[in-house]
Amino acid sequence: MSSSNRNSAKHVKLFIPGPTEVRPDILAAQGQAMIGHRMPECAQLIGRIEPNLQRVFFTEKRVIISASSGTGLMEAAIRNTVNKKILNCVNGAFSDRWRKIVEANSKDNEVLAVEWGQAILPEMVVERLAAGDFDAVAITHNETSTGVTNPVQAIANAIRALPNGDDIMILVDSVSGLSGARLEFDAWDLDVVLTASQKAFALPPGLAFCAVSDRAMAKAKTVPNRGYYFDFLELEKYLIKNQTPATPAVSLLYALDKQLEKMLAEGMEARFARHRAMRDSAIAWAKSKGFEIFAASGYESPTVTCIANNLGVDIPALNQYLRQHNMIISNGYGAKLKNKTFRIAHMGDLQMADMEELFAAIDAFMA
Ligand SMILES: *Cc1c(COP(=O)(O)O)cnc(C)c1O
Repeated sequence: MSSSNRNSAKHVKLFIPGPTEVRPDILAAQGQAMIGHRMPECAQLIGRIEPNLQRVFFTEKRVIISASSGTGLMEAAIRNTVNKKILNCVNGAFSDRWRKIVEANSKDNEVLAVEWGQAILPEMVVERLAAGDFDAVAITHNETSTGVTNPVQAIANAIRALPNGDDIMILVDSVSGLSGARLEFDAWDLDVVLTASQKAFALPPGLAFCAVSDRAMAKAKTVPNRGYYFDFLELEKYLIKNQTPATPAVSLLYALDKQLEKMLAEGMEARFARHRAMRDSAIAWAKSKGFEIFAASGYESPTVTCIANNLGVDIPALNQYLRQHNMIISNGYGAKLKNKTFRIAHMGDLQMADMEELFAAIDAFMA
């Protein structure tokens, strides 16, 4: 074997916001014998997965399973639900990706831009919506670039209270939030919420999931040029038979099946509490060193902490040191935040003991 130590205890432990650590038993689940996607075994597999995915999304609606990364389903949300104009709520690099996807698909938009590190607030959204002829809003639940969790529930409530609130599609990217940060699809009355396997789900990359409301399905019927691979109507036609139109990523479905059982055995409330506790420990550790938190107070993400590098630590050197100790964190995202911030992810299956190990190693580097 090479020195990469795949599957061994000595691999580099990922404190980066995706891909995240995947437990050995989940990795091993991918090695099961291949099945054909029109064989009853595959329908049984998807039939086991679907209700468990619904529990994780807190929904009784359909949850589409896609062989793509999360970005694929961002494009799907835009292609399927927008006819008139969408409001892009942008407070970081990933919410700006929503904007780019909208523009690449030649849909009309307006941008509600908020300073990076700040949250999108309900009153900002409804003020803009009331001033134009919109039929959709795109928002990022958990802005991975800044460590901000936007108040999606309050935003959705405010939107639904508008005179035309029921006609507005609420599209939510929860790629780095879902299953670590609370999101309740039905109770919050959302239309499309998408996520991906390699973040808080603690699975290998390659799968994406999205819950879709009845309202969004009805809307899709009115939208021309939905495309082929990500057409919600076509995907649903197969999903009700526990199938997918094209070949699914069968090996990843095996891992998903097993991981959903583990997630639900832990319990969603316990899972959220564990993430909040890891977030609180990251913030407490950072402040004890004299760092500032980049995210606005009260909106700090339970899955990733973005720390302002006000102490001028050499982040690449820190990461080089951490790698020697089989750990890695993330520098700030993109030209705007690199070296000015750094990020510690605490999502998926990481535990408090992992965090303590990481803080001790950074302490040793800074000593
Ligand atoms: C990682 C991430 C994405 C991109 O997801 P892919 O699975 O890489 O396509 C989108 N949005 C957010 C908030 C993310 O954290």
